[in-house]
Amino acid sequence: MADPAPNILPAKLDFIREIIAGDLAAGKHATVITRFPPEPNGYLHIGHAKSICLNFGIAQENPQVAAKCHLRFDDTNPEKEEVEYVESIKTDVKWLGFEWGGDLYFASDYFQFFHDCAVHLIKAGKAYVEQQSAEEMRACRGNLTQPGIHSPYRERPLEENLDLFARMRAGEFKEGDCVLRAKIDMASPNLNMRDPVIYRILHAEHHNTGSAWCIYPMYDFAHPLEDALEHITHSLCTLEFENHRPLYDWFIDNCPVPCKPRQIEFARLSLSYTIMSKRKLLQLVQEGHVSGWDDPRLPTISGIRRRGYPAAAVRHFCKRIGITKFNGTTDVALLEFDVRDYLNTSSPRRMAVLDPLKVVLENLPAGTVEEVEIPNHPQDPDAGARKLALTREIWIERDDFMEDPPKKFYRLGPDRHVRLRGAHIIRCTGYDKDADGKVCLIRAEVLPGTMGASTPEGVECRAAIHWVDATHGRDAEVRIYDRLFSVEDPDGADGGFLSVINPDSLTTITAKIEPSLAGEAPGFTCQFERVGYFVADSVEHQAGSRPVFNRTVALRDSWAKKAGQ
Ligand code: ATP
Ligand code: MG
Repeated sequence: MADPAPNILPAKLDFIREIIAGDLAAGKHATVITRFPPEPNGYLHIGHAKSICLNFGIAQENPQVAAKCHLRFDDTNPEKEEVEYVESIKTDVKWLGFEWGGDLYFASDYFQFFHDCAVHLIKAGKAYVEQQSAEEMRACRGNLTQPGIHSPYRERPLEENLDLFARMRAGEFKEGDCVLRAKIDMASPNLNMRDPVIYRILHAEHHNTGSAWCIYPMYDFAHPLEDALEHITHSLCTLEFENHRPLYDWFIDNCPVPCKPRQIEFARLSLSYTIMSKRKLLQLVQEGHVSGWDDPRLPTISGIRRRGYPAAAVRHFCKRIGITKFNGTTDVALLEFDVRDYLNTSSPRRMAVLDPLKVVLENLPAGTVEEVEIPNHPQDPDAGARKLALTREIWIERDDFMEDPPKKFYRLGPDRHVRLRGAHIIRCTGYDKDADGKVCLIRAEVLPGTMGASTPEGVECRAAIHWVDATHGRDAEVRIYDRLFSVEDPDGADGGFLSVINPDSLTTITAKIEPSLAGEAPGFTCQFERVGYFVADSVEHQAGSRPVFNRTVALRDSWAKKAGQ
């Protein structure tokens, strides 16, 4: 098969790669270590792919310093995390084409270290046990124009703090009775610095540590410590964390850590017609709006994999959108374009008829079986050719016939000619209608001597249509997927994102397919000529007995047409 679309690196480095190149040139670091730190509370989506391509990409691009990217599960919250998610995340990162080698980490393995850092802060007079309620704390926090108010517990003696924290750890308190807060600055213009909570009580089982702990660190406290412990040089995160950076640096500066990672923020990926929040994706799955996390309409990595998007097309897309500091929405058509572009080069051609209309070739005697040879890829001779049988009865696409065609319609109509792809030119000699007046059968004759490419003098034949032999073809379940939401910004819909689910996002039909397709393995990808790109469903397709194909993407962008472009 031909090479997939080439991976083009932008000529100019993005600002993060520039910073890293600069740091290396200045000798600031001997190597580069990045990390991809998913919380295992859901499946990964295309937004995560951007972060994966960035973090693992930087590691790949710097072999001269043996750069690495860690896969780290940020599993410090026992309530929402599940082992199923851990496994799916590993599968997805590998599928995208990246390797973490021996560098697989779990933040929950550092619970003792987080605890020791908390004790260190208490001993340094930089943390205290708070016993106000969450509400009282909120009321004392102040706002952008008003400074916060000191907690009555802020000046507790050090020994009392140590004792209370030990008792929190020992399970003597109920959830919410007390928390540990960093003692920073209640008047800071940055609200994140106003004595943030760093530990809370949760009497919950953890998937890794079981019931060993009943106090759990907060994200803002744990994350910089995880990075430092793993000697991360550049900690790349999305823009919402920009205001948290002073806090990130404060924990690094005030805890006994082995190195000083640098946090750099970039814009997250948002796609039109798509939602990306894990919470909302979970809701779609749990409420049965889709068939599961791998529903081909979801932007999850497992969904787009099942949909037939090639990993290389996703990587190419991530490279093309680049890394910036500005949040915006990327047109989902851009991703679809990359998928189409990649599949055009890499997919073999096959024939399938989605809306079948029978044609009887009346001058082919019953029982005749002709052999037709068709190239597997029009631009790639290396892709070879396949042999198909042609008999007296075939299927064509219903809209390749018109009873009363306009002049510019070059396909089949009464007394008109058309070429059957790779085979004869045929002429329509008549047609039948059913009781409802719908055309149900076409009669035609084969023009002798036109097999292959030749066109006799005086015959007008400008188009070739695809077909499936009715004797040898098979039935297949074909799932036509469209966008899950019918508006560009589902998150912004007045009635919420559930109110704008596209009712036509899945249409299941029975199509006619060439016989070999029924025997292909799950995951087999091809172009159904003139129709689109399809993949044998990885879950339900059964080679030989039950062919099921998913439409990956149509040949053309039908949404651009609708938008009048
Ligand atoms: P949640 O939906 O719970 O806020 P999250 O999307 O932030 O979760 P994480 O598991 O914390 O999910 O994300 C792992 C990494 O992926 C983080 O470094 C995060 O910045 C990055 N990431 C998440 N969403 C996107 C996105 N849309 N674009 C780019 N990077 C993202
Ligand atoms: Mg997150």
